Amino acid sequence: MVSYAKNNRHSASSAPEASHPGFADGSVDSFATERVSGRAGGSTGDPADYSANFLTGDSADGLAGDLASADVIVVGAGFAGAVLAREAAERGGQKVVVLEQRPHIGGNAYDEYDAAGILVHRYGPHIFHTNNRRVFDYLSRFCDWRAYDHEVLADIHGIYTPVPFNFNSIERHFEPELATSIIQRLLQTFGADAKVPIIDLRNSSDALLLQLADFVYVNVFSYYTQKQWGLTPEQIDPSVTARVPIYTGRDNRYFTDTYQGMPRNGYTKLFEELLKHPRIRVHVGLDAQEVVRFDYGDVESSDASKDPRWREEPGRNASKGPCGGEGPTASDSAVEANDPGGSDALDRPFERILVLERPFSGKLIYTGPLDLLADKRFGLLPYRSLDFVYKTYEQKHVLPCGTVNYTVDKEYTRITEFTYLTGQELGRTTIMEEYPRAFEGAVGQIPYYAILNSENEAAYERYRGLFAKLDGFFTLGRLAEYRYYNMDQIVARALELADRLFSFGELRHGA
Ligand SMILES: Cc1cc2nc3c(=O)[nH]c(=O)nc-3n(C[C@H](O)[C@H](O)[C@H](O)COP(=O)(O)OP(=O)(O)OC[C@H]3O[C@@H](n4cnc5c(N)ncnc54)[C@H](O)[C@@H]3O)c2cc1C
Repeated sequence: MVSYAKNNRHSASSAPEASHPGFADGSVDSFATERVSGRAGGSTGDPADYSANFLTGDSADGLAGDLASADVIVVGAGFAGAVLAREAAERGGQKVVVLEQRPHIGGNAYDEYDAAGILVHRYGPHIFHTNNRRVFDYLSRFCDWRAYDHEVLADIHGIYTPVPFNFNSIERHFEPELATSIIQRLLQTFGADAKVPIIDLRNSSDALLLQLADFVYVNVFSYYTQKQWGLTPEQIDPSVTARVPIYTGRDNRYFTDTYQGMPRNGYTKLFEELLKHPRIRVHVGLDAQEVVRFDYGDVESSDASKDPRWREEPGRNASKGPCGGEGPTASDSAVEANDPGGSDALDRPFERILVLERPFSGKLIYTGPLDLLADKRFGLLPYRSLDFVYKTYEQKHVLPCGTVNYTVDKEYTRITEFTYLTGQELGRTTIMEEYPRAFEGAVGQIPYYAILNSENEAAYERYRGLFAKLDGFFTLGRLAEYRYYNMDQIVARALELADRLFSFGELRHGA
């Protein structure tokens, strides 16, 4: 394991005298300049391998010098930030500084060995799957894969049931004759190997299909969704129901993508390889807001009392329900009522990026939440969070497969057993229970799932407007875009942004 110490905290006073093309007024080159392409090989996994670019407990000068030399600053070392950083360094020949607030790289895909020697995921179980050949080939440069087909069973009153609900599931819950009739009717209506949203079954006039739809709705979907999103049944938006599929076949795999598996040595190792490049510097344990801020580039706005960023902090969101219904909305904590300058002042787009209080003219790729970057002036963007409870047992396995969903009882939504994902056989095993929680923005609490409804998306767009005029500012990733993306989608988006930035000419304004 590579361990990362925290950076020293830096203040504006640590800004260097010299500067670089990244800054508006000069040049300094503190990076290695050789161009390296192809796979970054040869790592032994020893921390010393990364001493060149993983900065651990370095001096203030180290950070200030790196920032002064940077062509590209990337905020966040998850998939979005790490892939973009690699592309900028390798394809674009840019000097890249990555700032990560957590004490490690990998974002939510971070994994590490627990005390029992089991490789566990610290921010939810992550199974890689994609149909995107480019993404798979790209990541395959940085890791070998362990073939793994994820299976999920729902525990329905003690009966383990494959999900997505398929023909095997039907046979576990309906008498044989009825099960055969339902299966035949599904095949007649939708054909084999189709994924049919249960809304289609519920809208059907066929009694058999309706019976199946009701069973799945109650036993697989309803209670699970209430736990996941903190909703009452009435608050569940019908459009969410629409997405729950029934599979007209017997394939018990949760994902049926062309490429699926786990990085053989774990995600963190994959990230170490991604970020190991002579033109990349990674600073962990540093909130980018300590060194980056935005202003209007004029004298008036440099008066802090006139800058809406410094107005009274809005209150926290109440933890109401989400999910297209009456969930918490950004306006719950908006500040317009306290704003004597009116919303025009609050909505005024930033005109300059300041890094260590000096104008920055390079590219800033931001993969964190926009509301925090604008000091929550329109309130917190609503999210669901999760708590995780780990348990280790002195036996080979506890569950029958990688994940069991608890769809009719229990406070947790699901349990994942990591030894299925890793293939480790140590005579002991570690499981993880997931407890959904309201996200209240407390220190250390992680926003996991954006709560998407029209009001929250409008609040996000309002935040986005603040950054829309900035040259060289780009939002990328699940937080910065306020969306749910799988890992492969994020890698694809990062590669596409890199295509635009480093292969096909410059973009002037934020993406
Ligand atoms: C519970 C759960 C399970 C999932 N399972 C799967 C799965 O099985 N398969 C799959 O494909 N996808 C899965 N996903 C989705 C996957 O987590 C995302 O696709 C992926 O994490 C997105 O990467 P990202 O870089 O956009 O965000 P993140 O991984 O969240 O990375 C963003 C990084 O930015 C850092 N950051 C934010 N603000 C700042 C700041 N101000 N200064 C410095 N650093 C900052 C954060 O600390 C974080 O490390 C799952 C998601 C969740 C929530």
